[in-house]
Amino acid sequence: MKHRCPICKAATNSEKNADFPFCSERCRERDLGNWATEKYVVSEPVFNEDDLEDGDGKTFTLDLDEPNESEQ
Ligand SMILES: [Zn+2]
Repeated sequence: MKHRCPICKAATNSEKNADFPFCSERCRERDLGNWATEKYVVSEPVFNEDDLEDGDGKTFTLDLDEPNESEQ
């Protein structure tokens, strides 16, 4: 079965190439690297609506107790 390396588009042959469908071990590892990168991106913290609600609960109460230093 003939195929093309998904990484470098070189022609590969399943009967001759141990790393099929990749043309070489290097390309296979690069593909794994791509997957690892995607996995990393997917595992980024997802925006959570629950967190947003928690944030709304924390309303800032500004303490406007102005020191009347000017009256002294
Ligand atoms: Zn390749």
